[in-house]
Amino acid sequence: MISPSKIRSLKVFEEEYEKTEVAISQLQYLLESGQVVREAVSDITKGITSWSGRRERLAQALLNGTIISTDEIPQVLRSDAISSSLMSTSQTLQTEIRNLGKESVILADLEVDGAPVSLASWRRFNAANIANLDLRRHAFDGIIELAYEHLRKPVQALFEAGRTAYSQYGTDPVSVFAQDAGISVERLKAIIHKSGTVARDPFLDLASRVWPEVLGHPINPVDDLYVWRPVVFTEFDEAYANQEPMTNFAQIMRQLGMNGFAKYVEIDDVPRPDKTPSPSDHPIKIPNRNIIVFKKGRPFENATSGYHEGGHACHLTEIDPNLPTSQRVLFPLSDIEIPSTIFETIATDPVYLRELGMDEETIGRVSERERFNELLYLQFYAALSLTKIAIYEEGLEIDQACERFEQLTEQYGIKLPGQYILTHHIIPRYMAVYSPAYLLAKIRAEDIVAGMKEEYGEDWWNNPEAGGFLRESLFRPGNNVDLNEFSSLDSNSYFDRVVGNSI
Ligand SMILES: [Zn+2]
Repeated sequence: MISPSKIRSLKVFEEEYEKTEVAISQLQYLLESGQVVREAVSDITKGITSWSGRRERLAQALLNGTIISTDEIPQVLRSDAISSSLMSTSQTLQTEIRNLGKESVILADLEVDGAPVSLASWRRFNAANIANLDLRRHAFDGIIELAYEHLRKPVQALFEAGRTAYSQYGTDPVSVFAQDAGISVERLKAIIHKSGTVARDPFLDLASRVWPEVLGHPINPVDDLYVWRPVVFTEFDEAYANQEPMTNFAQIMRQLGMNGFAKYVEIDDVPRPDKTPSPSDHPIKIPNRNIIVFKKGRPFENATSGYHEGGHACHLTEIDPNLPTSQRVLFPLSDIEIPSTIFETIATDPVYLRELGMDEETIGRVSERERFNELLYLQFYAALSLTKIAIYEEGLEIDQACERFEQLTEQYGIKLPGQYILTHHIIPRYMAVYSPAYLLAKIRAEDIVAGMKEEYGEDWWNNPEAGGFLRESLFRPGNNVDLNEFSSLDSNSYFDRVVGNSI
């Protein structure tokens, strides 16, 4: 290994930087796939810390101008280096927050899988008690109160570390996100605000029918996005029972001529108790080693999340292997969710469901549920994203952030208690701004899919020319793609579709 102080060229730097990425991804895959015996978990965690320390030193050397002149650093590498330059501080705080969630945010009077309910097992508890609203309400109130008591200090410390560290390099997490997305902070905020505003009325309207249909009671804040996710498609599992989502996805890949998928993607569907329940994609070495961690069960939900992760894998295994690291491995946060969002749309596309033999009545109901999902997501994520932005932009303290979140959730849909934000798995646990990425990806993916439907047919996933377009224009060039050629963030197509005819 070369000491960061001895590196004098961007090429050597990038090779060393990529090694840390490969090592960390490999270790993270071992953890999330549940393959490691419990006693070895701390060794793996130590390994991650040690590689992160190296990445941090490399990033600092780059940003301090000891490797190349700072104005020669490619933008996407600079953004990545800024967030990596404080990896150890942020990881220490993240581990503290995660451990407190497991060990202190605990409801002794409630159980799941034979253990008291903690913040870490709260979602599993909800899934196991879906029919018991009173019990779930009791857990909801208790978890939120304890999360506020135990997590507000380390979360505040994490945000303060983020402010200080980014300001060292003359920027802040919000500006970095917006700059990478190629838009101003004002425009980013306007897009998020618009998504919450347009979603509100159709969401409340559709919710008045879907809530009692699925959960048996009127609209209720206790049923958050994570209560919905596992149940919203359950009634279609039977119609989908003889489908194997990842086998179907591999078939789509063959039809599109995405050869990287068969060559480089491994599907790890071995059942293990410690495996994370939702599918995840682990690019170990881009483009030629990628593993999708997948747990069988809930067939329909697995199709939507499996096609999403499959989309990440497809994208990352079609990238030109000869590109330099900063074009091949690093992506602006605002762009990385686009390919996965494109492929995820296939799973609920009526044309595709017809191909799988689903009847028209069921397809109509799937489409309505999917629309409900999107609206629920929009109003909730708009509130979360704007709160996170305000924390950095206006320097909000935790209590002010809770207040802002409560006010925004009420403005866009269902009012949630402000302290709820401390229970979330993204907003209070990561320094960087990431959540608007999903929203921007939805807007862009809608345009790209519409373009493919027009050019290659309503069933574009059966047309190898559509595969050729995605591969050559969007995937192969790595991050060197001007997305504005294929989609516009001014487009209303996505909003028009999800808002539908209910307004
Ligand atoms: Zn994703």
